[in-house]
Amino acid sequence: MDITRRHFIRTLCISGGMLFLPSCGRNGEVSGSQHSREPAYIKLEREGLFARRIEQAYARFEKCELCPRRCGVDRSRGEKGVCQATDKLVVYSAQPHYGEELPLVGRNGSGTIFFSNCNLRCVFCQNWPIAHAGRGSEVSDRKLADMMLDIQKMGCHNINLVTPTHVMPNILNATLMAMKDGLRIPLCYNTGGYELAENIRLLDGIVDIYLPDLKFMDPDNAERYAGSAKDYPEMARQAIIEMHRQVGDLVTDSQGIAERGLMVRHLVMPNRVAGTREFVQWAAQNLSKSTYINIMGQYRVEHRAFEYPEIARAINSQEFVEAIDWAREAGLSNLDQRAISHYQVFRRRISVF
Ligand code: SF4
Repeated sequence: MDITRRHFIRTLCISGGMLFLPSCGRNGEVSGSQHSREPAYIKLEREGLFARRIEQAYARFEKCELCPRRCGVDRSRGEKGVCQATDKLVVYSAQPHYGEELPLVGRNGSGTIFFSNCNLRCVFCQNWPIAHAGRGSEVSDRKLADMMLDIQKMGCHNINLVTPTHVMPNILNATLMAMKDGLRIPLCYNTGGYELAENIRLLDGIVDIYLPDLKFMDPDNAERYAGSAKDYPEMARQAIIEMHRQVGDLVTDSQGIAERGLMVRHLVMPNRVAGTREFVQWAAQNLSKSTYINIMGQYRVEHRAFEYPEIARAINSQEFVEAIDWAREAGLSNLDQRAISHYQVFRRRISVF
């Protein structure tokens, strides 16, 4: 059975959440995942630059500018902005995940850590119990480091940080702790895309794999569906260009497992509200035509989407087929293989009916 992200989340919710891995202690040696490439953060520490980055990141809690909302609240004193987070980490789950893109999943899974709360707050959020309701448990940075080591010990190919933007300082601190105790697998920064490029620059030399969404191309649609974030398209585009500058196109090892690079997700939505045609043209012109692009067809009516008639249905076959056709017309040559399989199914449906 194909395990989608939505299915994964639902399973967690039904089981009551909190599927933390048992602590394996420190010195989590790599098992099963033998990365030939050294993760970027090791070089940064060798150069003596990692601790300074953590200081710079933590300073942003005091007048929070960790995302384009620029709430200005002092999270170090417990104040909360739009994302509803203080400077304390809240984690929902940490475990191998097999529903992510195949270069992340490999044989042993992608080591996903789901952070609670979110700075974007989309009306159609598929993770709303975690992202909006904030389900999860408070953990220390040290505990997050131990989770990373446990994930490595299970053989996962990467640390997949889901919704990391508002807790980026904690992540950097935990990564340094974990690195000192043996962490040797790459970080995957799995973000909704509502980022400040200047904050992404702090991650240069720390993150190896960027996995941003680019959800909307039109400011009015972003305002309507993504928590009033009218500047989302511009902020996300700037951030993704910076990510691509840092890590370039996706590089995989001999087994096809991601080592470094940019992977961009775009969810096709009903009635073309996501701006898919504009997205693929932008990606082809501003990134590279060989950028790894995952055009996703699993839109479902979740959270408050039923209040918006134009997105209160699943997409149809034609909407997904035209999305892939547009991507190919734009010259994008590295489309996600599962998306191509879905495309073939949808095409057959159209030809039959
Ligand atoms: S991370 Fe949260 S508090 Fe900080 S600017 Fe963004 S929404 Fe506001």
